[in-house]
Amino acid sequence: MPYDTSCCGAGTGLSGFAQTLGRLPATISVGKRLARQLLACGAHCPRIFVITMAAPAPSASLSAQPLTLDGITHSYGGGLAVDNVTLEVKGGELVALLGPSGCGKTTLLRIVAGFIQQGNGKVLIDGRPIDTLPPNRREIGIVFQNYALFPHMTVAENIAYGLAARGESRSVQAQRVEEMLATVQMAGFADRKPKQLSGGQQQRVALARALAMRPRILLLDEPFAALDKNLRLDMQIEIKRLQRQFALTAIMVTHDQDEAMAIADRIAVMSQGRIEQLGTPVQVYDEPVTLFVNSFIGSSNLLSGQISAPVEGGYAVTLGNGAAWTVPSAARFAPGQPVLVSVRPEQMRLADEAGEGRFPVELKLSLPIGGELIHDVTGADGSSLKIAMSRRPGMASGRAGTAFCGLADHARPVLFPAPQP
Ligand code: ADP
Ligand code: MG
Repeated sequence: MPYDTSCCGAGTGLSGFAQTLGRLPATISVGKRLARQLLACGAHCPRIFVITMAAPAPSASLSAQPLTLDGITHSYGGGLAVDNVTLEVKGGELVALLGPSGCGKTTLLRIVAGFIQQGNGKVLIDGRPIDTLPPNRREIGIVFQNYALFPHMTVAENIAYGLAARGESRSVQAQRVEEMLATVQMAGFADRKPKQLSGGQQQRVALARALAMRPRILLLDEPFAALDKNLRLDMQIEIKRLQRQFALTAIMVTHDQDEAMAIADRIAVMSQGRIEQLGTPVQVYDEPVTLFVNSFIGSSNLLSGQISAPVEGGYAVTLGNGAAWTVPSAARFAPGQPVLVSVRPEQMRLADEAGEGRFPVELKLSLPIGGELIHDVTGADGSSLKIAMSRRPGMASGRAGTAFCGLADHARPVLFPAPQP
């Protein structure tokens, strides 16, 4: 696939570019003309793999196609990187793969793209297996973290690269370049080189290059990681808009939970090569199914306690600090079972007086963070808790000293079995 070529903009000139390619961990596919030039620097780029561009037919319609991962398993040598992952991405849906570094996100994405042949399992687009197709025949567009633009080509040449490689006429190329530049709001930048663009602009060009091929599937691997926070939000909105406009089925890899929450229709939370939970952003935040998901998404307070008795729709729980709470839960717990009760900081409240369900705490510190005031409190047992309340203008701290901590009216604590010591 022409636009699968990974390179970063750090190299200067063709030999620097070749060296950059040579340092990349994967096999690189490039077009014939570029390959000839790169092979002239062959000693520096041992992994460059020359392919003859096969021409996938452009998608005739904009109807979105589902992508299915069926029991994908992959290991590098001894280590299991992806462990029996099954995932159905609906047509036109954007699923975020979210998890800590090393949990197998990129490996899974590269398997879908065809850069890695999985040990086990199948990848299907619209119900048809694509595992035997090389990357350039899968009609998948990819945007990498590092922009991956050809540094020696102009913006227009970068965008047209894949179209030229699959033999589109010059007029089709020119028309598509113009259309794509307008789509990513970069009209007027056609003749610039990547190094004359900001990071955000380079990433827009990378997106334009992927979309120019009219892919069936869009894969995004940490596409905003190198951008600063404000720009990241602009790009998140932009990607979401384009993904909808082009009716693309998309997978985005990220380790940033806010990003996943903002952009994804559903989030697959991964840990150690497996999907721990697949759900909408609200589901994984409000109803995490494991302690890992609970702790990875957002922040939460974990209070230890014990099940007292089942009640309608949940359990009566006695906390280690003595307070008695009623916690809704559909999970099965036995009376006397040790549990952890997770409560989001914004679902806890501080009061001046003792009361039902409240326990005494010492207010240590208050941090005004934007529109929120975050209180750091310590319980009688020494445990530390965070409480977030919305901050009124002028408010900078809470009252130091003893306070009483309880649940907000809307709180939905979540119960987990206490981990075995
Ligand atoms: P993520 O993208 O979630 O950070 P990766 O898919 O890159 O995770 O890596 C998953 C696991 O596979 C990690 O333990 C990583 O060290 C290992 N791994 C990734 N690429 C290779 C490789 N080319 N050779 C050997 N191990 C690898
Ligand atoms: Mg990765």
